[in-house]
Amino acid sequence: MAVDYQPPQCLSRPIEVPSKLLMGAGPSNAAENVLKAGSLPLLGHLHTEFTQIMDDVKQGIQYAFQTTNTLTLAISGTGHAGMEAALCNLIERNDVVLIGINGIWGERAADMANRQGADVQTVTKVAGENFSLADIEAALLQHKPAVLFLAQGESSTGVVQPIEGFGALCTKHNCLLLVDTVASLGGEPFYMDRWQVDVVYTGSQKVLGAPPGTAPISFGPRAVAKIAGRKTPISSFYFDMNWLGNYWGCDSQPRKYHHTAPISSIYALREALALLANEGLENSWNRHRQSRDRLISGLAKLNLKPLASEPAARLTCITAIQVPDGVDWKSVTTHAMSMRVEIAGGLGPTAGRIWRVGLMGQNATDERVDRVLEVLAESIKSATAPVTVMGRL
Ligand code: PMP
Repeated sequence: MAVDYQPPQCLSRPIEVPSKLLMGAGPSNAAENVLKAGSLPLLGHLHTEFTQIMDDVKQGIQYAFQTTNTLTLAISGTGHAGMEAALCNLIERNDVVLIGINGIWGERAADMANRQGADVQTVTKVAGENFSLADIEAALLQHKPAVLFLAQGESSTGVVQPIEGFGALCTKHNCLLLVDTVASLGGEPFYMDRWQVDVVYTGSQKVLGAPPGTAPISFGPRAVAKIAGRKTPISSFYFDMNWLGNYWGCDSQPRKYHHTAPISSIYALREALALLANEGLENSWNRHRQSRDRLISGLAKLNLKPLASEPAARLTCITAIQVPDGVDWKSVTTHAMSMRVEIAGGLGPTAGRIWRVGLMGQNATDERVDRVLEVLAESIKSATAPVTVMGRL
């Protein structure tokens, strides 16, 4: 039988992947042993050797989130899948959901909550600022939400949201606290249990330094009770925590097939979590803070300013840098890329106004900070050099 269409020519060439220093907003470079783990032989998704690896991953995630929550696992999908899973399990139609918006991630969460049929209310701050307890308490009193969403690391603006105290506040107002830590976990202190966070998720590809494609998530007792008391089924089968919790061995029932876990990605996540466990969270938090401080001092020498004017509001993992007047941001990132170094531009409300430098996981070292500063300086010089008929001087 002849086919209608011929095999594509491009697939007859070997795959080509250059090596780049990924100092943008993610993914970050993965360690060699993490990448190697991803190429180990496949196992079946219910083989005992694989379910043992899932159990290791669960414990690693509990450590990373600083929780003893049983309903802790990795969603098969990127950070967005974690966000969608959290929201669809917590929300029933017409629930009031309060979203803190100080960048693109609040906007995305509001969009997703809307699609779940929630009555979405927002509390906003300009790009570069975060929310105080007083801001949030006023909004909780006004809207009486069932769920509050905050992003600990607002990667589109390089802002860290304090979380300590917000869990207790939400408990007092009978609201569940959902926190996005995709751009902060491992780089900023986070204590799920101590801070009474009800649901948290992150992504594999930033500080954890594993390939994109898995999203650690954890549900605390109040969130579990909300799911158990739902009057309507969870809108998504794929993200249904009743199914996923069983598949990940979080209940006392035998594991049932729900979906085929991305086996190789789970191996890689295990090794990334092992790296974090071996280093220790406190050491990882310190390393990220020190790298960020070194970057900020280097930027000052180049007369470059972070977007967040308040030092305490600056995220350790991603620094947003104001693009100086008269500099074309795109020429700078293009030049940096020609040197095999990725520096990101802005996103959403910050597009065109900032660059973003990520110092995450393996990339939070003095050497890599110095390299990105060198490349940034050279790229700005190249982008602002006078142009002659022959091209740039
Ligand atoms: N939340 C935050 C704070 C993020 O920075 C990102 C990724 N930049 C996401 C969610 C979404 O993650 P992903 O791109 O892996 O879906």
